[in-house]
Amino acid sequence: MSRRALATVGAIVSATALVLGAGVLAAAPADAPWSYGGGTGPSHWGSLSPAYALCADGTAQSPINIQRAKPKPLQNLRFGYVAGEAEVFNNGHTVEAEPAPGSEPSTMKLNKVAYTFSQFHFHSPSGHTINGKHYPVEVHFVHKTADGRIAVVSVFVKLGAPANKDWQKFIDVIGKATANPEQTVIDKIDWHKLLPTHQQTVRYGGSLTTPRCAEGVKWSVMMTPITMSAAQLAVFSKAYSGNARPTQPLNGRSLVFDNTPSR
Ligand SMILES: [Zn+2]
Repeated sequence: MSRRALATVGAIVSATALVLGAGVLAAAPADAPWSYGGGTGPSHWGSLSPAYALCADGTAQSPINIQRAKPKPLQNLRFGYVAGEAEVFNNGHTVEAEPAPGSEPSTMKLNKVAYTFSQFHFHSPSGHTINGKHYPVEVHFVHKTADGRIAVVSVFVKLGAPANKDWQKFIDVIGKATANPEQTVIDKIDWHKLLPTHQQTVRYGGSLTTPRCAEGVKWSVMMTPITMSAAQLAVFSKAYSGNARPTQPLNGRSLVFDNTPSR
């Protein structure tokens, strides 16, 4: 997550801690280092910091394996993405792009709630699976409301031809992105063109897929993947390979498939 997103996650976790008791909040240290392997890998996240407890104890965690989603004629997601300048940076876990400060806000409407687009980042391979199968890359478009609610739209990437020209500007800078967002700028990115044409999604309630694993996240996983060439996909996996959390138990959650045609 970005520094900005982390602030939101912190707010959610703080609220949870208040419910559990003030002692939990007082004991929470600064964010502990975590990774995707070894002693700080996903199976240890919950014990790295009390602030990460939900990573182990949560009951509505993400990602998940998607199967047997119940079709329903839901309202499609409504995107109001505005093309503009992007800042790209490497946060040590993924490479992320976000609208440059001062940009006209991009929005996404889900069930009549308007969210502001915050950033996208990728996981390689995908965290979510379809019937147990991974895609080479999964991109998370993160959206937030002013009061801290989070909705993530997930887009799978599969191998295909030709090269995906809409993604090339981002791919060009993945390798040179530093921790400082101001150092790597894309003059104009058309965010909406990064999404699949067909935008039917499977929706469920889950969590952030990185510590602090905060729950209450509304997930919309696009069922139509976008395609990229082998050379393009290689740029993602060269930057990060294996930065995906394993799938988490469903614990009785229902998956709903929006079967309203999007076009
Ligand atoms: Zn993610």
